[in-house]
Amino acid sequence: MGNLANCRRCGKLFVNVGKNICPTCVQDIEEEYTRCAEYLRENKLVNIYDLSDETEVPVKQISQFIREGRISIAGNPNLAYPCEACGTLIREGRLCNKCSERLNKGIKQVLEEKIAEEDVQKGGYYQLGNKKDKK
Ligand SMILES: [Zn+2]
Ligand SMILES: [Zn+2]
Repeated sequence: MGNLANCRRCGKLFVNVGKNICPTCVQDIEEEYTRCAEYLRENKLVNIYDLSDETEVPVKQISQFIREGRISIAGNPNLAYPCEACGTLIREGRLCNKCSERLNKGIKQVLEEKIAEEDVQKGGYYQLGNKKDKK
């Protein structure tokens, strides 16, 4: 089973068996993983940018290995990856505290606006009338 799809990584058309990435790229990623894992074994104090330079594996890909738990950062104290929104180095999740807080607030705000809108619809003619005579 599988549908034709464009590879998420290289854009080539391939038969998607559920990974969204073509077999060539899967193999490439495995090689990149091996390079990172081997380099890390010898260089426990490296940070993600040096690791990327040394292995020629994109920071984004390394971040993914870390998030997937394939590369453990527990034994590599300097290894952290950039927040997806602002680039601050973090060691868990996708966003730094600041950005996830902002995101949470954003969601809350949208919800509150929605609730306010519903209030108006429910019987807010009076409210709307009030709004008009602001000075
Ligand atoms: Zn591909
Ligand atoms: Zn951030």
